[in-house]
Amino acid sequence: MSQVRTRFAPSPTGFIHLGNIRSALYPWAFARANQGVFVLRIEDTDVERSSQEAVDVILEGMKWLGLDHDEGPFYQMQRMDRYKEVLQQMLAQGLVYPCYMSTTELDALRERQMANKEKPRYDGTWRPEPGKTLPPVPEGVQPVLRFKNPQGGSVVWEDKVKGRIEISNSELDDLVIARPDGTPTYNFCVVVDDLDMRITHVIRGDDHVNNTPRQINIFRALGKEPPIYAHLPTVLNEQGEKMSKRHGAKPVTQYRDEGYLADAIVNYLARLGWSHGDDEIFSRQQLIEWFNLDHLGRSAGQFDEAKLRWVAQQHMKTADDALLSTLVVQQWQTSGIQVPADLPGSDRLQAMCALFKDRCATTVELADWLGMYVAPVSASADELAAQLNDANRPAVAALAQRLATVAWDKAAIAQALKETLAEFGLKMPQVAIPVRLLVCGTAQTPSVDAVLALFDREAVLARLKG
Ligand code: GLU
Repeated sequence: MSQVRTRFAPSPTGFIHLGNIRSALYPWAFARANQGVFVLRIEDTDVERSSQEAVDVILEGMKWLGLDHDEGPFYQMQRMDRYKEVLQQMLAQGLVYPCYMSTTELDALRERQMANKEKPRYDGTWRPEPGKTLPPVPEGVQPVLRFKNPQGGSVVWEDKVKGRIEISNSELDDLVIARPDGTPTYNFCVVVDDLDMRITHVIRGDDHVNNTPRQINIFRALGKEPPIYAHLPTVLNEQGEKMSKRHGAKPVTQYRDEGYLADAIVNYLARLGWSHGDDEIFSRQQLIEWFNLDHLGRSAGQFDEAKLRWVAQQHMKTADDALLSTLVVQQWQTSGIQVPADLPGSDRLQAMCALFKDRCATTVELADWLGMYVAPVSASADELAAQLNDANRPAVAALAQRLATVAWDKAAIAQALKETLAEFGLKMPQVAIPVRLLVCGTAQTPSVDAVLALFDREAVLARLKG
């Protein structure tokens, strides 16, 4: 088999959301799984609705998720000359023909067909046939170019998701492939691009299934075999509607800003329409090893925030602490926290990440937790009043005294705690909870000796004074 070449061909007409970027993830994963080539093509011919900001979100989102392309980005607007060249060639070969039917005539035709309960379609008035006399060319009318769709027979393809699809050619009228001003239309550009870019597998949303038989006919007219198609079912939002910006879908980059790990999003999206046995949690490397087109889901995937958080948590647990440190520093900087100069890149920051990451789904949450190490804390006055009283205040003070001189590590801190509990005949929570409230601002933390050891001794002593 020839080298696998896939593409992602987004239209930059809105901010790309998770549902859309899944159509980038699958062709990317398939290319990577097969040592293939992944091409990025920006379909920007809808000039009114396309925007640079939307292109930027696509590029940024793909970069963040690590969906690196090998070729492109190619912009369709920069390929107009090429499309026109192919149009001329097709005209010369008699594969397309000029049609002078005006919009008024087309409307009238449609109305007649509807009145007769027929499917509205172009009736072939200007289609040249041997022995047929065409109407006189009207003056001053710029024609459109129509593709001479085969008559009779049908278009068949084995869709990797939907199975065998057969569309009778009688369902397809002669498609307009160039407008009166000579600009090529959508389906035609896609075919020229997929041909020129030597795409072997088209993996895209199933909103394009209706275009596929038309595109296949154009391929064949050009003497080429079409690629293999895999049409992915829609992604639904939590309400069961098609995921869309209109229905509140967030731009992909927002998940980055909310602190999700790229690998978690990749894992989540991969499972939203593809499976590898019962595996729910996998790494990018495993995805690349396992991904194929034989286990694509046939039914629509539904976005589920709770599941996304769960997947994100699993990835946080195993995430590399050096990576987490970098992301936490970024989050702190974004929220205007002064980061002590010795912390970024330090073992201590990595140890903080290791200690707290289990309880987080995002690096925003992790940065929040670790905020106790870089910014003042304040426990709720009520909670403090309830937990710190005459019974344990002397013990907290005695602990502070011990901590002033012990070696500053987890074992020594644990020992100091133990001695203090013994001295006052108290149980661990009776001292550990007020200590946590004073030092960390919250009573729920990992093991208190481990948490304290990552503070500066002076900071702990100052906070214990209340
Ligand atoms: N530009 C199309 C879209 O964003 C995709 C076309 C294709 O993949 O063939 O829906």
